[in-house]
Amino acid sequence: MIPQTFKSLAALYKAMDKTWNKIAARYPFKCSGCKDNCCKSLFFHYTYIEKAYLTHGFNALDQAGKEKILTRAKNYCEKTFAKTPDVKSLKIFCPVNENGRCLLYPFRPMICRLHGLPHELSRPGLSPVMSRGCDAGLFDDKSYVKFDRTPFYQQMAQIEIAFRQGHDKTDRIKETVAQMLISQ
Ligand code: SF4
Repeated sequence: MIPQTFKSLAALYKAMDKTWNKIAARYPFKCSGCKDNCCKSLFFHYTYIEKAYLTHGFNALDQAGKEKILTRAKNYCEKTFAKTPDVKSLKIFCPVNENGRCLLYPFRPMICRLHGLPHELSRPGLSPVMSRGCDAGLFDDKSYVKFDRTPFYQQMAQIEIAFRQGHDKTDRIKETVAQMLISQ
């Protein structure tokens, strides 16, 4: 059962998944794993509520599973962040990915859900910013199917504001999944 704290987030995630699947089907595009796996992308996450939900899922794993992931997470951070302040993707698998499968799939953050499809994002008073889809979809050869991420980002911001107010969080957060799990 989803704890009350996460009900709005879980509903938003469900809406994201539904929209993503609907738009993917219109191309048609099916994510079936590729060598440029997006779980090797350097994704940062910016919300405390997503961190809390991810760690809620993580803490439900058995001890051996948790230790395995944490070992990989420490390794990930040592490699990615140790060398220079200029952090760039080393194309290392997210520590939660095991044999191509996300071990925290129901709890995965927003960007893991929205990635892949061409999309747009609008800011007040500005033209929408368009972004390409992943290479595996060969989207450049296809007509764009409108995918506006803006309402999802706006709803996430509202949910995050409410969460922060209830949990006394005021500082900014910018963490990878590996960092979120280590610093929980
Ligand atoms: S949280 Fe899951 S879906 Fe997201 S990058 Fe990690 S393994 Fe992939």
